[in-house]
Amino acid sequence: MQRKPTKAVVLFEDDPTLLRTRKAQLEKAFGKVVPITPFESNVLLAGGPDVPLEQKLASTLESARFHHGVIGLIVCDMALERYGASQATSSTVVSAAAEALGVPICLYEAGDKGPLFSLDRRRKWGKGLIIVDENSESFGRECAGLYHGFCHIERELAKIPAKDFAKSMPAEILARILEKPEETDRIALYGAGEQSPLSELLPYYDARRRNILELRKRFHRALGNWLYTSILRFPGIAVNEIAAASYLNISRKDFDRPGVQSIFSKAAYRGPFFECGRWWWRRGLDAMLAAARCRTGLEYAGKRGMKGLKPSACSEGSRPHAAGYYCMITEAPVCEEHSRGGISWFPGGADLARVSRRQYEKMGPFMGLY
Ligand SMILES: [Zn+2]
Repeated sequence: MQRKPTKAVVLFEDDPTLLRTRKAQLEKAFGKVVPITPFESNVLLAGGPDVPLEQKLASTLESARFHHGVIGLIVCDMALERYGASQATSSTVVSAAAEALGVPICLYEAGDKGPLFSLDRRRKWGKGLIIVDENSESFGRECAGLYHGFCHIERELAKIPAKDFAKSMPAEILARILEKPEETDRIALYGAGEQSPLSELLPYYDARRRNILELRKRFHRALGNWLYTSILRFPGIAVNEIAAASYLNISRKDFDRPGVQSIFSKAAYRGPFFECGRWWWRRGLDAMLAAARCRTGLEYAGKRGMKGLKPSACSEGSRPHAAGYYCMITEAPVCEEHSRGGISWFPGGADLARVSRRQYEKMGPFMGLY
């Protein structure tokens, strides 16, 4: 059997100095196993003047120079300005070309520039856009984690027989990949809404005859975007470190204490993108507590010999009190009283995701906008 070629990473960075830096960061994170191919400013796009730019770029990316389109991930600067007019003039063009090819893409830009910026970035998650902080220490590692996550999904998809694939909805397929069939209904809730990352699959879902070949080609991209920007991002099915501490009623600081997280390892998330962060299955945590007859994670930790841990604290209000929920703007634990849920751009099913009351009052008018 012929071995499949290792998929490449194509890097779009128009600043030559930054290009060297980003390439080196990626090579370090990928361990030089994966080819990192920069899109240089001297690349000429294929196709005549009447062909749309994104289409020309897509054809160019299918050329030998770019590994015949065998690309695992495109990593692209959000603010491309210096490429020539006949090239990839903006990250929107690159994103459109990536979508046309069914190739996953992550964009990068500088980190937090204040609450409105962060709100804007968070809203883009709802559209399935993966945005990485270029100044973060973990820039390379996150890109590598994304690449491996998408490859993981693609490998698992290939194992699903065509007849099962044809009759399954995306939520069933994702639940199968995650080996969590019991989460199918809640996963489906995350996919509702017109801004869903799954909407790019719609043109291939013909009512009478699904275009299985084309669907299969792009499925890993859509499922990965959905999983990373929605299901793992908005606490409900899974909880990140801060949301887990809040949910378990353990202070953020004590949850980081050596040995504390490992007592919950049975519920740890090991699915695609696990290298990009830390998550736990919420249902898994519930099951552990129920089996030990504990009401909270704090109580459970005490039973397991972790003494003297402090309870989680809501980030608002004057008196210390328990949190339980997670604010999507401040990324801090928050209680039900001091927060608002049901924000229009939150996925359904993300019942632990909230916006703190203070943030809501400050940014309420912007909160519902797309
Ligand atoms: Zn509170």
